[in-house]
Amino acid sequence: MKASILTIGDEILIGQILDTNSNYLANYLDKLGFEIVEIRSVSDGEHAIKEAMNRQVNQVDLVLITGGLGPTKDDLTKQVFCDFFEDELVENPRVFTHVKTVIEGYFKRPISELNRKQALVPSRATVLFNELGTAPGMMMKKGNTHYVSLPGVPFEMKGIVEKELTPVLKAQFALRFNVHKTLVVYGIGESLLAEYLSDWEEALPVDVQLAYLPSRGRVRLRLSSSGEDKEKIEHLIEEVIAKIPLNVKEHIRAYSDLSRSEVVIEKLKAEGMTIACAESCTGGRLAVLFSAKEGASAFFKGGVVTYATQSKIDVLGVKKEIIDAYSVVSEQVACAMAEQVRQKFQSDLAVATTGNAGPSKGDSAVEIGTVYVGIASNMGTYAIKYELGQPREQVIERTISRALELVYNEILKK
Ligand code: ATP
Ligand code: MG
Repeated sequence: MKASILTIGDEILIGQILDTNSNYLANYLDKLGFEIVEIRSVSDGEHAIKEAMNRQVNQVDLVLITGGLGPTKDDLTKQVFCDFFEDELVENPRVFTHVKTVIEGYFKRPISELNRKQALVPSRATVLFNELGTAPGMMMKKGNTHYVSLPGVPFEMKGIVEKELTPVLKAQFALRFNVHKTLVVYGIGESLLAEYLSDWEEALPVDVQLAYLPSRGRVRLRLSSSGEDKEKIEHLIEEVIAKIPLNVKEHIRAYSDLSRSEVVIEKLKAEGMTIACAESCTGGRLAVLFSAKEGASAFFKGGVVTYATQSKIDVLGVKKEIIDAYSVVSEQVACAMAEQVRQKFQSDLAVATTGNAGPSKGDSAVEIGTVYVGIASNMGTYAIKYELGQPREQVIERTISRALELVYNEILKK
């Protein structure tokens, strides 16, 4: 079954907001077993919406639309949607009661004409009730194509999708299973990896697709297949993975789609080790990554952000003489920060960052883009110098990936 996604809103087209609805819906539809053939964003204009809807007639089985369902003048979707099916808007009693309850009960004011418009739906539409807001979702059919219009506000849209839309789609469509398995490979570049894998790739079954997703220092390999028997597909993919040559296998750090920090966290957990961090140029982002998921206290003892030079002295207890002698961005200071934070938090391992992310020079005379990452553990303390270029955001992101890499290697030394 083919599906497409259409998001509506000038704010997407001018880059004011990120179209997260498409990403959510693509993931959702893929999990349900649809093949997503197109994602498109168009403006709030009548012509743009109509044209985009028209293009999909008999091309796909399902079109999910978000945005522009509100009652204000700039929200045109409902009228255009209704006209597209040559229907007329009628008041839906259940939606009206709900809107009235929300407005009178929550906002404590009488319902206005504008609010009342929220209860209007095309007469033949299947109404998808919106428990978390006022604009309901609507589903209608033209030719062989089902169209679903949903509000733009992400949490309302998700609420309707999960509660109202899912049972309707499951009943309406005979869906297949899409299975994806992602392996994370470190330390081999994309082209060399492709070379190592060429025989294996050549021998892949026709119904298994392979994709390379490279990013700084690692490549994610995604294997995909779809069919009616989920277990059979999963088994097929497992067989394919078992045949990966050894010189690649030894570089696989994860057999699921883990981020850089998740790879490190899984390793820490597996080894039963704890970590702490002292951050300067990364501004607490390592701490954010370590604490992102529940259960983090099992391995993450804590972190401090000592951004100003004086804070490194006052909070961490880095000696002023070291800073004076070597400058605040130095191997010695990175080591001292790691050692101090390890001691303060009583962790097995500690990581520290100090650098000059730019664009202007700070408290140190070092070049912009110069960063030191310090590591302390019972194996000793050391720091590595990196020249990470420009701009600022890149320096910070690269520092984070270098730091995570060093932490990973330190765990391996255990
Ligand atoms: P409302 O009834 O609240 O007006 P609506 O259906 O009219 O809902 P829009 O006016 O299109 O929705 O969007 C409301 C808000 O929802 C936007 O300002 C934006 O913050 C968010 N939003 C809309 N579309 C998207 C999208 N594709 N991705 C992420 N957020 C979105
Ligand atoms: Mg709106």
